[in-house]
Amino acid sequence: MSTAYRAKDLGLLGCHVCGMVSRSPGREEGLRCPQCHSALHSRIPNSLARTWALLLTAMILYIPANLLPMMETTYLGETTTDTIISGVLLFIEEGDWLVAGIIFGASIMIPILKMASLLYLLVSVHKRCVVRRRHRALLYRVTELIGRWSMVDVFVVGLLTALVHMGLISNIYPGMGILAFAGVVVLTMLAALSFDSRLIWDFTSD
Ligand SMILES: [Zn+2]
Repeated sequence: MSTAYRAKDLGLLGCHVCGMVSRSPGREEGLRCPQCHSALHSRIPNSLARTWALLLTAMILYIPANLLPMMETTYLGETTTDTIISGVLLFIEEGDWLVAGIIFGASIMIPILKMASLLYLLVSVHKRCVVRRRHRALLYRVTELIGRWSMVDVFVVGLLTALVHMGLISNIYPGMGILAFAGVVVLTMLAALSFDSRLIWDFTSD
């Protein structure tokens, strides 16, 4: 079996922001990236605690995000409220499968997959798991990349509100659910950013 060296073992430091690799002078306090001047750490300090806090808050917020209305629609004086799920069902009823699919993917599937994979990564680091490291590193990169697409839903509600502002006949207002949902998206993005994926490589099998 080939030995995998970590950058830390070789005295190298990678920048989280621009990816530049520089030589570690030994001490890390106040160290800055020579290219983009962001702080350099061989491991993000308190990465696990911060990721746990952000992830758990996002999970709790995901409940009101689904239960509270995303949108309030007034049509001919009659007000209806829609949550994420009722919105998806409404679009399916109308035969609008594409929109239903986009909302389902962005608001239900991506946040759940993202929270689940962060949870899995956190638990695997806590358990000092040494198997499937390459897969977990890949999972982290995918998680970080797709998370921002959930914001599509927030934009859809924003756009609808702006477009259907005719007043008399129909009107659309964003509900409290969208606020909770935007919170979930932002918190999971921050959780992914505070998770230091290099921790995956920190434990040896012996
Ligand atoms: Zn940099």
